Amino acid sequence: MGKRKRWAALCLAFVLLAAGCGSASRQADPGRNAGAESEIEDSGNGAIAGIESENEDPGSGPEAGIGDSESGAKAGNEDSGSGPEAGIGDSGSGSEGDSESETEEDPGSGSKPGAGSDTEDSGSGASTLEVHYIDVGQGDATLIRQGSHAMLIDAGDNDKGTAVQSYLRSQGVTELEYVIGTHPDSDHVGGMDVILYKFPWEMVFLPDLEKDTKTYQDVLRVIQDQGKKAAHPFPGDTYALGEAEFTVVAPVEKDYGDNWNNYSIGIVVTFGESRFLFTGDAEEEAEADMIAEGLDLSADVMKASHHGSDTANTLAFLEEVRPEFVVVSCGEDNSYGHPRAGALNNFREIGAKLYRTDEQGTIVAVSDGKEISWNCSPSESWKPGEPTGGQDVQPREAPDAGQSQADEAELKADAGVSYIINTNTGKFHVPSCSSVDQMNPENKESTSLSRQELVEQGYDPCGRCRP
Ligand SMILES: [Zn+2]
Ligand SMILES: [Zn+2]
Repeated sequence: MGKRKRWAALCLAFVLLAAGCGSASRQADPGRNAGAESEIEDSGNGAIAGIESENEDPGSGPEAGIGDSESGAKAGNEDSGSGPEAGIGDSGSGSEGDSESETEEDPGSGSKPGAGSDTEDSGSGASTLEVHYIDVGQGDATLIRQGSHAMLIDAGDNDKGTAVQSYLRSQGVTELEYVIGTHPDSDHVGGMDVILYKFPWEMVFLPDLEKDTKTYQDVLRVIQDQGKKAAHPFPGDTYALGEAEFTVVAPVEKDYGDNWNNYSIGIVVTFGESRFLFTGDAEEEAEADMIAEGLDLSADVMKASHHGSDTANTLAFLEEVRPEFVVVSCGEDNSYGHPRAGALNNFREIGAKLYRTDEQGTIVAVSDGKEISWNCSPSESWKPGEPTGGQDVQPREAPDAGQSQADEAELKADAGVSYIINTNTGKFHVPSCSSVDQMNPENKESTSLSRQELVEQGYDPCGRCRP
């Protein structure tokens, strides 16, 4: 319990410096702030026009790099390591974004005094890894920084892109070496188009999934507009982020049917002895596959899978990870009831300390390579979310559980229904397919057409229920 006192002390220090609480200290450099603010304002009016012109200059640097790294990632492990590094060198050789990042590093890196000046000094002993679990309501967005190097995992929902952009600016981030869209769900990649327009970036990772949703298409379009390509990482691929590195641990299998969550890109970030695990919305099946793959999943800090859902965070997986800390990213009073009681019980059972964005806002962990400190004390509430779906049936992942159950009842009552179409994915399912439970009600459409008619209209049979 002496440790707890230390957290309290650290907490005080962070109050002055860290995310969400540090705007006063960040204004120490007025020139920088003015610049950042005017850029943010631009995004308010015509996002795209403003963004494109802004990106032209820095774009040329990273673009040169992305070609290398893209092919590196595809070719496999031995190339993927050197690919991104070559890319980093390219962009460092003179992109405007890079020089900015050096001047901005001191005021911007707020949550860890002094680290900025040591960024290029590998081995000076004072460098740190920062992990910012950004509060984006119901969704995910995590900023990871090592010295002047930054990466982003997910960018919150469609209405959160500008907020994530502002947060990155407030931290002095001017370019992103890697951007990972864990999977196509809007609470993960919704804000990503803004980020990819607004920041020069070197590599974007997306799972190898083609999805027709507007949200996902927006992301793909930005990448295409910039003449780049997304990379699809493979388990075991390792990339450098300054003195830190990350290893891909998921997705392991290719065919999870319509369960997009299970295609989530998962990584372990290592810095010295510290390890941070991210698994997007991977659910039980994907967790089991990660274990079976045999990569080292152990981590000091685990971001709870799928916002603390009980369709994930199995005890078997947690025992593999053995996290000392678990961070749940979810919205206050979210309709899914995240974090679920079952997941909280598992976190407690393995003795993890819990942080949660719905109670604590943006959570920042800083590792010096050995010890990890936090901008606040762990949550003690262990309070599960309250699913607002009602009824005694456990709502699965669906934006509005009540509506989805009503839909289901309606579907079952309708004897003429042959198949259920997901209008987003273009797949059709038998009504009892487990994917149907997870389907966004807005995309769910029942049909009385025959299999052949559906195929002729361009729909694909689900790989799981094989109608
Ligand atoms: Zn999600
Ligand atoms: Zn998801």
